[in-house]
Amino acid sequence: MRTINHFVNGEAFAGTTGKTQPVLNPSTGTEQAQVVLADRADVDAVIAASAKAQPGWAAMNPQKRIRIIMEWIRLIHANMDELARTLSLEHGKTFDDARGDVLRGVDVLEFALGAPHQLKGEYSTEVGTGIDTYSLRQPLGVVAGITPFNFPAMIPLWKAGPALAAGNAFVLKPSERDPSVPVRLAELFIEAGAPAGVLNVVHGGKEAVDAILDSDTIKAVGFVGSTPIAQYIYARCAETGKRAQCFGGAKNHAIVLPDADIDATADALVGAAFGSAGERCMALSVVVPVGKETADKLREALVAKIPSLNVGHCLDPQADYGPLVTADARDRVFRLIGEGVEAGADLVVDGRELDMSGAEFEGESLAGGYYCGPTFFDNVTAEMSIYTEEIFGPVLAMVRAETLEEAISYPNDHVYGNGVAIFTQNGGAAREFVKNINVGMVGVNVPIPVPIAYHTFGGWKASGFGDLNQHGPDSFRFYTKTKTVTSRWPDDSQAGPQFTMPVMN
Ligand code: NAD
Repeated sequence: MRTINHFVNGEAFAGTTGKTQPVLNPSTGTEQAQVVLADRADVDAVIAASAKAQPGWAAMNPQKRIRIIMEWIRLIHANMDELARTLSLEHGKTFDDARGDVLRGVDVLEFALGAPHQLKGEYSTEVGTGIDTYSLRQPLGVVAGITPFNFPAMIPLWKAGPALAAGNAFVLKPSERDPSVPVRLAELFIEAGAPAGVLNVVHGGKEAVDAILDSDTIKAVGFVGSTPIAQYIYARCAETGKRAQCFGGAKNHAIVLPDADIDATADALVGAAFGSAGERCMALSVVVPVGKETADKLREALVAKIPSLNVGHCLDPQADYGPLVTADARDRVFRLIGEGVEAGADLVVDGRELDMSGAEFEGESLAGGYYCGPTFFDNVTAEMSIYTEEIFGPVLAMVRAETLEEAISYPNDHVYGNGVAIFTQNGGAAREFVKNINVGMVGVNVPIPVPIAYHTFGGWKASGFGDLNQHGPDSFRFYTKTKTVTSRWPDDSQAGPQFTMPVMN
């Protein structure tokens, strides 16, 4: 059985606990590796290694740091198939979707190549007679990323790329469910010429996370995961004086106006609701058509498309999506579907009926995999748990609204505020929607509005805690601190001490 170790100082580190956890293949339900789990002492050792490496990395000029990141990008592309295959087999998303996971991470590394520009300060001359003021952006020191299972390449790279480019050392605590790709990415960073210790990876659960949160050496924590843990980490970081940006769960709505192209909208919804088995924080899980006619037409279009989706092994090129990540995740989705039925929602397509007992891929049985077929509910209401909770599975809920105002109230009033979309051909209505909607990322005829790397990514309300977003210019602000210098070079002797507040004139 393969063991996935921590990665510290450029090499594998088995840790001292002897504790491990199985890493599964969700497509077959079989164990494929064991990942080691750190305790507090292991984490402290990793942080100490990072602290030792950081000053030298920060002293390197930014052009040199980004040349290493440039080579890292080249190596990631050169190893793309291996990375995507490993990611797919541990997560369960399809191979092509896994490539997308890596590539959206690389986008942010490319953005981080602009670090010399992002780190430039500001300069004002003659703010007083013979006095200049300027500001510098300096790295924080050692920073950490705690990342979720659902994007095991993209989110570590979103965090590590800008942090490293800015001169920090980065401790990554990835999800213990799919830990291989984060380690492989760190190995490739060393191969690209990075000094050992600048990017370390440590595996573990709550104990490891708490050790990061308690460390005086760690100056900032970038977290992505579920809302209760996001809130916990945000509060703990406030207690210990660390910067934190903590992104949480989601319930993303699509509003469909009567003038929308129904067939194209149904296609967009099917991809965005069921892609990656719905295990995306930007998955569209609620659709709100305006008016009975729109809802009926949309229901008909969805019913024509959903049952023909192909669910299969993650490496099956015919599969539209693969399994959920664990049996627990699948059972939770099944439970919520049951609650929807009990609450009186209209279960139009029931994914629990998917039968994989006789299915095989390349000679392997899929009977033990964690599959759930695409599920579609109509007549969902705002009190039902299938509406209030993030399901994180292949379940689309339709909530019918009479008016645009009522439709907009659903995403506006929901506890989450990550993404939202509107489908319409009416520019004026879309513009009003964009202006007034209480959600962080908005799509206009775009179902999954994940912003490009040079803009920023972040949800509102219970989807995000902290004031700065991920990637884009915010990422450099988050991972640097500003020093402001006021200087004068007098060419005559001073008139003696001054006891009043200096005023620039
Ligand atoms: P999770 O909250 O279970 O785990 C996230 C990280 O926290 C992991 O590294 C995990 O090891 C750690 N962790 C788990 N339990 C902990 C505890 N009790 N104390 C301290 N640390 C703990 O999330 P997940 O299941 O890996 O990921 C799915 C969630 O992430 C969904 O809610 C999804 O919406 C969210 N997500 C949000 C975004 C975003 O940008 N808003 C992006 C991707 C995923």
